[in-house]
Amino acid sequence: MTAFSLSEDQIAIRDMAASFSAETLAPHAVRWDEEKHFPVEEMRQAAALGMGGIYITEDVGGSGLGRLDAALIFEALAMGCPTVAAYISIHNMCAWMIDRYGADEQRKAWLPKLCSMEHLASYCLTEPGAGSDAAALKTKAVRDGDHYVLDGQKQFISGAGVSDIYVVMVRTGEAGPSGISTLVVENGTPGLSFGANEKKMGWNAQPTRAVIFENCRVPVANRLGPEGIGFKIAMAGLDGGRLNIGACSLGGAQAAFDKALAYAQERKAFGARIADFQALQFKLADMATELEMARTFLWRAASALDETAPDATKLCAMAKRVATDTGFEVANQALQIHGGYGYLADYGIEKIVRDLRVHQILEGTNEVMRMIVARGLVGRAKGN
Ligand SMILES: Cc1cc2nc3c(=O)[nH]c(=O)nc-3n(C[C@H](O)[C@H](O)[C@H](O)COP(=O)(O)OP(=O)(O)OC[C@H]3O[C@@H](n4cnc5c(N)ncnc54)[C@H](O)[C@@H]3O)c2cc1C
Repeated sequence: MTAFSLSEDQIAIRDMAASFSAETLAPHAVRWDEEKHFPVEEMRQAAALGMGGIYITEDVGGSGLGRLDAALIFEALAMGCPTVAAYISIHNMCAWMIDRYGADEQRKAWLPKLCSMEHLASYCLTEPGAGSDAAALKTKAVRDGDHYVLDGQKQFISGAGVSDIYVVMVRTGEAGPSGISTLVVENGTPGLSFGANEKKMGWNAQPTRAVIFENCRVPVANRLGPEGIGFKIAMAGLDGGRLNIGACSLGGAQAAFDKALAYAQERKAFGARIADFQALQFKLADMATELEMARTFLWRAASALDETAPDATKLCAMAKRVATDTGFEVANQALQIHGGYGYLADYGIEKIVRDLRVHQILEGTNEVMRMIVARGLVGRAKGN
């Protein structure tokens, strides 16, 4: 691809994801949010179309696509439901960590069922006392023969309780990032339990729970890579994860924009369509422009990650901040254009606004994205 156009294959991939999203996700999204329903069967249908292991290698059932392809898919899925799209994104991130850092036996053991989404995966980094400062995590993994014994708690884990596979960052060594390792913990392991499903502002179509380890014995054979590279694995996963979350914001915002554009051409006030007022036309023009700017930049960051460019991490952080801030602002303006009706659940706009708000917080807050960019400009400040 060139920087500004998609190949025929990429257009076909995006159209496939968009049709799936319009037919299978969009008609149910408001109800799933109200009922807090996690649509596992529909996600398996997405996986049957290749969206459970988008950038996973083909020998274990993946689709072998790139990061730009993934961005197109997640934007299209999020047009139907940002929450379901975002969970599929987290699942893909976990599968990639296993594919990239796992030994061949580990890849073959876990990835085929993850790619088909027969098994679901959760990413476990955050702890009650370690969010933005993730390298301060305290969940202990103490070696005992062929096992690690885990004690500690992960907080805010998407999919927890339902997922079969937990990719967990644990402390096996000294304080700081170099004492962290990554373990795969299977659901059903004695000593693994879950907190209550959190009550949240949005993202209601997927569960969020604490993941608790109490004397939980995990085989050493479940470690990804050597001891001490867990933080590196976690951060590498997030480069792509951040692009995907950014793409989910663009998809949610595009859906909200499309609804607002249609509504503005139907709704009448002061004897005219509200779309005839120039103030509103300028608002629509700015929304369309800002979405396009964010999308163009996200594609640039995705291409950099595909090419393993040296500045890929910085570009992914920049793109995550821009796409999630823009996505939220555009969705919020789309609500405003709907007037009071935008505030009613039936119109589906307030749900998008609630869903997109958390994208500015998770996978690194947008302040953390600025920290990553600033480190490249002025160096790492003490404590950061
Ligand atoms: C719905 C939901 C789902 C989630 N899913 C997952 C998941 O699946 N797996 C997972 O591991 N985590 C998950 N998270 C956790 C999420 O990644 C964290 O909430 C996030 O990283 C922020 O951590 P914190 O909440 O502890 O906030 P804190 O780190 O306590 O930050 C509080 C505020 O201080 C700011 N701040 C902190 N340090 C600095 C600094 N140095 N400079 C400037 N500002 C700073 C932050 O930006 C933020 O505004 C999820 C969270 C939510 C809400």
